[in-house]
Amino acid sequence: MLKTQLEYKAIARSVVFEVVNESYSTQICSSCGTIPASSPKGRASLGIREWACSECGVEHRDTNVALNILVAGHPRLEVGISLL
Ligand SMILES: [Zn+2]
Repeated sequence: MLKTQLEYKAIARSVVFEVVNESYSTQICSSCGTIPASSPKGRASLGIREWACSECGVEHRDTNVALNILVAGHPRLEVGISLL
């Protein structure tokens, strides 16, 4: 329902709307692209807001998932999408 509403609003305002695969977006380190052993896993860890990547040492906060979603949509946005 939320995606439908976002798509409707985006199209109404000529904004690009892209649905991407969000699998593992909470576990992937947005800095090095790996799924480190230290990343939050499972439903029990959904409340974890800060964690450090055991592979590259970067400390993540709430923006890690947003960065992974942005990267997932970037290849298509990079070449440009005509809404006309
Ligand atoms: Zn990392």
